[in-house]
Amino acid sequence: MSYDEVEIEDMQWNEDLKAFTYSCPCGDLFQITLEELKAGEDIAHCPSCTLYISVIYDPADFQDTEPKPPDIVPPMEPPTAVA
Ligand SMILES: [Zn+2]
Repeated sequence: MSYDEVEIEDMQWNEDLKAFTYSCPCGDLFQITLEELKAGEDIAHCPSCTLYISVIYDPADFQDTEPKPPDIVPPMEPPTAVA
């Protein structure tokens, strides 16, 4: 069971850890990295105890925004039979 559910807006970006953090009752910080969020992970663990939180966020906000190249289908012109 998770200790709590926390919205990503309520977490703090930690530049040193490169992770979103949230205060753990043990005095340390729950942490979840950008890579984990991009991968769809929604559990932030505390490195100092066994507690963890569920992070509430919109996965679409953390997807890579690189546009995928469109599938290019070469036009297939059927040979025209000329009489
Ligand atoms: Zn803790």
